Order: sequence, then structure tokens, then C-alpha cells
Amino acid sequence: MDRLRQLWKRTAAAGLAIALLAVGGCSTNPATGRPQLALISEQQEIQMGLDNDQQVRQQLGLYPDPKLQEYVNRIGQKLAAASERPNLAWTFRVIDDPVVNAFAIPGGHVYVTRGLMTHLTSEAELAGVIGHEIGHVTARHSVTQMSKQELAQIGLLAGAILSPAVADLSNLAAQGLQVLFLKYSRDDERQADQLGLRYMFQQGYDPREMPRVFEVLRRVSAAQGSGRIPGWLSTHPTEEERIRTISGEVARLGGDFSGRTVNRDEYVRTLDNVVFGQNPRDGYFVGSTFVQPELGFQIRFPDGWKTSNERSAVGAISPNQDAAVMVSLSDQSSPQAAAQRFFAQQGVQSGQEVQVSPNGLTAVSRVFGIQGSSVDYQGIASFVEHNGKVYQILGFTGTQSWQRYEEVLSGTIATFGPVRDRRALEVQPKRIAVVSLPGEMTLRDFAQRHPSTVDLQTLAIVNEAEASTRFPPGAVVKRVVGGELPTLSAAAPP
Ligand SMILES: [Zn+2]
Repeated sequence: MDRLRQLWKRTAAAGLAIALLAVGGCSTNPATGRPQLALISEQQEIQMGLDNDQQVRQQLGLYPDPKLQEYVNRIGQKLAAASERPNLAWTFRVIDDPVVNAFAIPGGHVYVTRGLMTHLTSEAELAGVIGHEIGHVTARHSVTQMSKQELAQIGLLAGAILSPAVADLSNLAAQGLQVLFLKYSRDDERQADQLGLRYMFQQGYDPREMPRVFEVLRRVSAAQGSGRIPGWLSTHPTEEERIRTISGEVARLGGDFSGRTVNRDEYVRTLDNVVFGQNPRDGYFVGSTFVQPELGFQIRFPDGWKTSNERSAVGAISPNQDAAVMVSLSDQSSPQAAAQRFFAQQGVQSGQEVQVSPNGLTAVSRVFGIQGSSVDYQGIASFVEHNGKVYQILGFTGTQSWQRYEEVLSGTIATFGPVRDRRALEVQPKRIAVVSLPGEMTLRDFAQRHPSTVDLQTLAIVNEAEASTRFPPGAVVKRVVGGELPTLSAAAPP
């Protein structure tokens, strides 16, 4: 939570620096050759990139698989070396995140998520995605865009710095980091698609694989329903539009593509054993109960509240979005020290002590008040010791609705406690398992013969197929294994 806020502050400071430097004149855009208003120098862009890259790696975490990292980096370096900015210190990394996403930051740092990796089926598709992100960097989209977006955030931040609890609430509402990136204009996206196609084509890849990426995105998007999808999906032109546009571009390239690189099997094989979907080791929900198996704690949020598990905090917001409970780790060594630190913050008022002792754990709990810029908040701050760590649990609401929520908030805090069920602690993630088919079969047959722990629709999406698609003998097909969660009763407090 704190680190998220720091990143937010830091990138906003960079935005301010850009605004001050905006007097700089026009330069030529490296990718398009057209003049462009350059807000920062290349040297500044590179420095900003290094700072932000470090933050991204810390905040989002790299997927711990050196072979997969190497594979993605190798393809990225090849594409970037032939781009208009070959001399940037390009990096290409796989982020340990289940969301289907890819993004780039200034200076030449490109990230793809493991979620994206597990949904693609060829190296040529991956080259298309990476090429698109390289395009944002070579055309310097991110530079101009980050400055615009961050300037807009400064207003929001003034409030955030004032009151940490409000910042946490807005962070939770914004669902973490992804919102920071990828607010490009549609024209920028179209240009990045074109550049991506150009780069992958130049490296000998089959350009017909590029529209397939958008088809995957379209299906992932449709399967998730109306819910917003961060990054790639939410800010780009519709997938239908992109498929049309890029298919047109591919047709214009003309000629025979049959000898070009696709590398389907090789790509799919690199995905063997890669974690698929949410990793329950990062914490998981069974109903409204959250279980953190690595730290060995659980907490039950009120039914019907919207829950969110971020890297550094877990929390829930009431249906009216007027109350929240958040759990995070304190860096203090005792509940007393953590409480002291919390109440020493500017603008935080300490109220009466409350007797909340979650599951008999040592705790210090107090009522607190915070003067926000528009609303005043009231809540309970509980500092609980468990397994040698100190947790900060905040339950808060607007002062107006304190009476209405007080009992729910303290009741929720009281459900915090150790996980006693071994199965709940030993939970493992789902993983991709690659199968080479012994004979011809449809995907439906395959799902029967080699059962997966995801439904047929999901299996069809990750294999870019339909249930009725016939695979030839020897085809490599993905299945998804493991990752079953314990039942609710097993995870419920004893
Ligand atoms: Zn893009």
C-alpha cells in the first residue's frame, strides 16, 4: 500500500518536472520521421525509464522463470535492434500477473504479463505484441502521454498525500497500478499496431499472426463480461476494428507468407508448467473469506462487499462505496509501535481504545478520525501481531455513517486470525501443461481425455480454438491442471 503510494507520488513528481521542461521545442519523431513536440530530452527519458523500471519490477514482480524471461528478452532484443531506436538499453520482461496485458515505459522497457503469455499460441503473435509496445517507445508515445496523464493526477494526489487512508481507498478503488500506464490515444494505438506489424514482418514473422492476437483479446474481453479490463484492452480501439485495420495492412504487404516464421509448437512448449490465472499463493478468496497461505492469516469480509487483493494490501469496500476495511503489513515490530506510528501521522486523530482481540491475538485497537479534503473519516485502527509480523487493519467510513458501520467494521476486524486448515495453507496455483496429441481429436475430445481445471470455454480461448476444432496428430495443445481451492467450510474460521 505504502509502496503503491510512493510510486504514484514519484511518477507524479516526474510529471511535474516534465511540465516545467515543456518549453523545449520540436524534434523529429524517430519512428515516423515527422516533427513532434518533445517535452523531454532522450537523456531524461532514459533516466526516467531506469527509475520507473525499478519501481515496476518491485511493485509488480517478475515471473520467476529464467528460461521464459530469456525467451521473451531474446525476441524483444531482436525486434528492437532493427527498430528506429536500436541504441536504447531495451529490456523485455515477464511480469507475474494473471491479467492479459502488455505495456512499455519510456527508455525502452517492455513488459508482458504471464497472463498474456499463457493466452498466446505462437512466437509470431508474441512478436506482434512486443512490436506494438516497441512502437509506443520508438514513436515516443509514452513520453508525451505519461506527462499529460500525470499532470491530471496531481489534483488527486494533493488529497492523497493529505490523508493516507483516503489514498488507500482510492488506490483500492483504482485496482492498483495498471491504471498508471497505457492511456494512449486511439491514434497512438493504431500507429503502434502498424509499427508492431512492420517490426515483426521485418524479422521474418508471418504477419497473419498479428490479427490473431486481437482475436484473443476480443475473446478474453468478451469472456470477462462487462467488467473493465486494464491495460491493453480498455484503452485501445475495439478488437474488431483492430482486426479489420491490421488485416488490411497484412493484405497490402502481399506476397506469399507460407515460408515465414510462426513457431507455434516451440512457443507453446515454453509455456509448460507456467502458472495460469490468479495465483492463490498470493492470497485467495473463498466466498468473502480471504486466505493468505504464505503469511498464514485469514479474514472474513462482510458479504456483498467488493473485495480486492493487491500485492501490498487486501481490502473490501461496501456496496455503496462509503466504507472500507483494509489489511496490510506494518514494518513495526510490535502492535504498540505500529499504533504509535499510525497516530503520529499528521491529520490523524486518536480516539478511545477499543477491545478487539481477533482470535485471541495480541492487538492494539483505537478509534481514529481523519480530516479529508472534502469528507471527514472515522474508523477503527487495529494493530495485530501474528506469526512474528504486525498487521495494520483499518476499518473506516465517513463520519456521517460511523454509527451505521461501527459494528460491521469491528466485527470484520475480529475475524482476522490464523489459518488452521492444512489444505487451505497448501493450496497451489493452476498451471499450463502441454500435451502432444497421439492422434487426431477435437478440443472437446481432448478435454475429456485430458481433463483441465478450467471450463471448455477457457480452454478454447487459450488454445485459440473452438470446442469443435480438430487438431492433427502430434499437435501440441495446452491444458490447465491443478489449483483447486478448498471448500468454504475448510477455510472458515474454526
Ligand atoms: Zn498500446
